[in-house]
Amino acid sequence: MEQYSIINKLFRTNNLPDCSVLLALILLLITSGTVQAQDIKRRSPNIKLVLQITVDGLRADLLNRYGKSFGKGGFRYLMQKGVVYENAHYQHANTETIVGHTTLATGTFPSVHGMIGNVWFDREAGELSYNIEDPKYPIIPTRETTIKGEQLDPAQKLSRTQGRSPSVILAPTFSDGLAAYYGGRSKIFGVSGKDRSAVSMAGKTGKAFWFSVDNGDFVTSTYYYDGYPDWVHKWNSQRKADKYSGGSWKLLEDSSTYLLGAQDNRPYETDLSGFGRVFPHRFAESGNKIFYTQILVSPVGDKLLLDFTKELVENEELGKDSIPDYLSVSFSSVDAVNHFFGPSSLENEDVVRQLDRILAELLDFIDKIVGLENTLIVLSADHGMADMPEYMSELGFDAGRLDPDKIVSIANKSGKQFGIDEIIRFFYRPYLYLDEKKIKSVKADRSEVVLAIAKELSNSEGIALAVPSSNIFDFNTNPLLQYVHRNFHVSRSGDIYVIQQPYWFLFEKGPVVGMHGSPWSYDTHVPIIFAGPGIKAGKVQRLVHPVDVAPTMSALLGMSPPGSSQGSLLKEVFQ
Ligand SMILES: [Zn+2]
Repeated sequence: MEQYSIINKLFRTNNLPDCSVLLALILLLITSGTVQAQDIKRRSPNIKLVLQITVDGLRADLLNRYGKSFGKGGFRYLMQKGVVYENAHYQHANTETIVGHTTLATGTFPSVHGMIGNVWFDREAGELSYNIEDPKYPIIPTRETTIKGEQLDPAQKLSRTQGRSPSVILAPTFSDGLAAYYGGRSKIFGVSGKDRSAVSMAGKTGKAFWFSVDNGDFVTSTYYYDGYPDWVHKWNSQRKADKYSGGSWKLLEDSSTYLLGAQDNRPYETDLSGFGRVFPHRFAESGNKIFYTQILVSPVGDKLLLDFTKELVENEELGKDSIPDYLSVSFSSVDAVNHFFGPSSLENEDVVRQLDRILAELLDFIDKIVGLENTLIVLSADHGMADMPEYMSELGFDAGRLDPDKIVSIANKSGKQFGIDEIIRFFYRPYLYLDEKKIKSVKADRSEVVLAIAKELSNSEGIALAVPSSNIFDFNTNPLLQYVHRNFHVSRSGDIYVIQQPYWFLFEKGPVVGMHGSPWSYDTHVPIIFAGPGIKAGKVQRLVHPVDVAPTMSALLGMSPPGSSQGSLLKEVFQ
């Protein structure tokens, strides 16, 4: 306004400025006008679609290790066009899939959102509970008959029922906030190779689809639909996974182009029923119970997810109007490959290289349908990954495998000094659950009992620290305690939290040979990238956290953060 009045004044008088002054004034106007427009644009960009990409198990340093091999349009595009947070770490102890996804979705900690692990011990029922299982909402069948596929996901395998819903998630998600802000007019979807990774991101208000290892279809539950939309039915009827029956997973490019080309055949990798430890990995026939799991443990799992996602975007008409829509795509194959071959395997390098091409195809597709200039893209991971103990031992690290039975027997032995036999009611890593009735029956001081067991375990080989999960006692100077506290939910968490030493494997015996789930930096370190309209590219090295993601997304859309959010705004996204 002030500039206009100056010009008016100048022109009202006969003292017309000379040309250079006029030019300078005009330039000043143009420049200041541009800055103001940009500022406004950055505060409320024209976002028609929020695309949240989560790569399950993508430890942040893998993007650097494989960076040179990336092509155009995928990771390279996001790393060049976006704000890349290179030092983002989870702050909770149990770095597992549902915990990380729900933290990204809600902007708060497991102590608040309640997803303290993929599995916890249900004290009332006296059995293990799989995070999002819900008998009230059964999965809608896609075929008349389906064989029961071999479920190798150790968490899903423990679920008692086939029902799925987000009911147990105790905090609202970003997507829930979007639904409320736009009066239910935003279209909200979560898709993934894993049920928990689709359901958590879609929140209570969105719709979720995930890959079934029983039949290779994308399925949902009655929480979301009464029956399948026509386009889903059509996609499933094409049986796209079956086209890989008897085929193989081959390297994308010549093995000489891979950093880890020599790390293919390692004795500690898993051979999944003939899938083999070296390339090419042969898929079973589609009638075989392991076939669809093998599909997920290969880039094909991500390719099918891409294919399904494209159908979803087109048929549900995402990003078509001025009301922003939300699509969460969580790719599961990197994690699956990590669990059976490790993160420092040729298989890992290839699955990430192939995902780079898949991402490029997804972004190209979104550009054509919605326009990248109208799309906010946020990429992160739900946790990192530890290298396998045998590999670390070869390199000279102190690493090994912990035996859950041994942990229970050490704890029970400790309980005996209080006159209690078998004090441990249940152990499901990382939590030990105590038998409260037995403690009461001998009238022991509960705090003393808990502390004695924790101390005894802390002195055992391969265990860094065992602590009472709800009270600090005399451990309060250890920074790991904060991670354990952020993981504590009063009814779901166990009584003693066990933290393995770095690179020690805390898991049951079985085909899963590589793990995450610790508070160590290889498990907490994940990428966070924001790219989209008005966001200036840059690299940020300050420490940030995945709880910051949801409130930052909300602020970019002019919304308040999700109801329970504890995160801060990632200021570089707004600069
Ligand atoms: Zn995961």
